Amino acid sequence: MTKKKTATQRKPSKPSSHGHSHRQGDCVNLLRQLSAYIDDELPSDVCTEIRRHMGACPNCEVFIASLQHTVTLCRHRPAPPLTSADRKNMRRAILDAANAQ
Ligand SMILES: [Zn+2]
Repeated sequence: MTKKKTATQRKPSKPSSHGHSHRQGDCVNLLRQLSAYIDDELPSDVCTEIRRHMGACPNCEVFIASLQHTVTLCRHRPAPPLTSADRKNMRRAILDAANAQ
């Protein structure tokens, strides 16, 4: 009796069935891009990437939502939306959040 061993290649971590491939480093990258995202300076494909990450990562979603809410409030005012000091503070807050991870 000769039994052929079928070599089934098993890859230890294949997240394809689960839908999202979310790594912790993604959060940091995302936070670094956030200030440009808020300023609408990012290309649309990067925005899509960020939105997709937000869907998979509640932490980033909440963070961005509160940030965007603030920016939207500012933009609804007739006065200049964000002073350079505001932007500076916001960027610093974002980088602090990225470094805290
Ligand atoms: Zn995240």
